[in-house]
Amino acid sequence: MSGSPAAPVAIVGGGLAGIAAAVALGEAGHAVTLYEARPRLGGATHSFDRDGLAVDNGQHVFLRCCTAYLGLLDRMGVLDRVRLQDRFDVHVLTPGGRRGRLRRTALPGPLHLLPALATYSLLSPPDRLRAVRGALELARLDPADPALDRLTLESWLAAHGQTGPAREALWDLFAKAALNADAGQAALGPAVKVFRTALLGRSGAADIGVPDAPLGELHGTAAHDAVKRHGGEVRLSAKVTGIAEGPAVVVDGVPARASAVIVAVPHEQAARLVPVEAAPGRDRWHELGASPIVNVHVVYDRRVSDLPAAAAVGSPVQWVFDKTGVAGLSAGQYLTVSVSAAQPWIDLPTASIRAEFVPALERLFPAARQARVTDFFVTRERRATFFQGPGSGARRPGARTRWPGLYLAGAWTDTGWPDTMEGAVRSGLHAAGLVRRHLISGAAS
Ligand SMILES: Cc1cc2nc3c(=O)[nH]c(=O)nc-3n(C[C@H](O)[C@H](O)[C@H](O)COP(=O)(O)OP(=O)(O)OC[C@H]3O[C@@H](n4cnc5c(N)ncnc54)[C@H](O)[C@@H]3O)c2cc1C
Repeated sequence: MSGSPAAPVAIVGGGLAGIAAAVALGEAGHAVTLYEARPRLGGATHSFDRDGLAVDNGQHVFLRCCTAYLGLLDRMGVLDRVRLQDRFDVHVLTPGGRRGRLRRTALPGPLHLLPALATYSLLSPPDRLRAVRGALELARLDPADPALDRLTLESWLAAHGQTGPAREALWDLFAKAALNADAGQAALGPAVKVFRTALLGRSGAADIGVPDAPLGELHGTAAHDAVKRHGGEVRLSAKVTGIAEGPAVVVDGVPARASAVIVAVPHEQAARLVPVEAAPGRDRWHELGASPIVNVHVVYDRRVSDLPAAAAVGSPVQWVFDKTGVAGLSAGQYLTVSVSAAQPWIDLPTASIRAEFVPALERLFPAARQARVTDFFVTRERRATFFQGPGSGARRPGARTRWPGLYLAGAWTDTGWPDTMEGAVRSGLHAAGLVRRHLISGAAS
């Protein structure tokens, strides 16, 4: 079977990587068919209804430096459905009531955050000084240096004078959320990528953005509309079970010819789908492993916090977000606690998680002590990201395979970014670019 210009490009997987590829190719005038095994688009970012409450499977955060992700939202016509801070500003809460605040100044990066570090009240004065020095030294590292992939963030922090309290009240706050791994587990390379690009990069790079609409609408519905607007086809509940040379995809046992194929599924599924002849390294993709994220959802009968978002130290609460408006709650307050690197929590029953988190929230938000919890539930994503530990960078494959016209995408591939929405979108755009080149060279020959 040989590729034909008349056959559409087949994109397997309707997460952000597949969506980005489908929208980009559609805009460029290529026919695409997007195959998604589930009955909805959006992949790891989705929502569900709980008695009228629009619940996201997990709080998703992005930064102003996530330009590819923001570009995709723009192309899908939903850029006005996210909220982006004017200026990076994080309130950090503690159970004892002490509070810290990290707010950028108008200075150019990386100077913009140094005043905040130098006055950060949750660090001792010597730790503040060491934090400033550490930040400037870290900003000089190259995240693509393979040597950094072999070290942990913690080993570097320890060697550069960052104490345990500084790690907890500063470095882990951001590294854990961005890499879904503790500083002791996370590889240094992606950590440097995060700190350099966001916190130590251009002055607005780390400004924090959150969805202002349920993820299912922001990504799923909008993507469906955008792909169709460009004449593409979306096939939901369509699990691809094989890929043949040519290339072609097999759906429900029936091969469908394609002019090119982008496999944009998670690494375990990709290893089963992509023929070994096309990707001899596929049998080692499972070594990328998985790391869980747990979200703890608490609905109160009244408002308990005035903050749209906050981080916490000395508490099982890592980050907490006010989801009241986005979820469509008209009375009371709905908070979501996002717990990354959630290995200790993932298998605990909801009652045990409640016994820890409801009192922990009361210690952070004293008003919660007078409030009644009207709903409590937990969402667990066991394989939220791949495990971004030492050696993982070397295991991430590039987009090309040995078969012409067959490409890989997904946040787990070698994007230079951690396993994030931005990485997913970048991978999809990159694969789409390779497909375009492949089709042009095929048409010319
Ligand atoms: C709870 C949680 C919180 C997160 N928080 C953040 C955050 O705050 N910020 C951030 O940037 N990132 C966050 N992430 C990570 C981010 O969601 C992912 O990096 C990104 O969405 C991955 O997109 P993807 O397209 O690569 O893969 P996926 O979203 O996994 O999409 C792959 C798709 O392929 C489909 N598929 C699989 N096999 C087949 C098949 N055989 N045939 C057809 N379809 C198939 C799947 O059903 C899925 O829809 C979080 C993830 C989770 C789970």
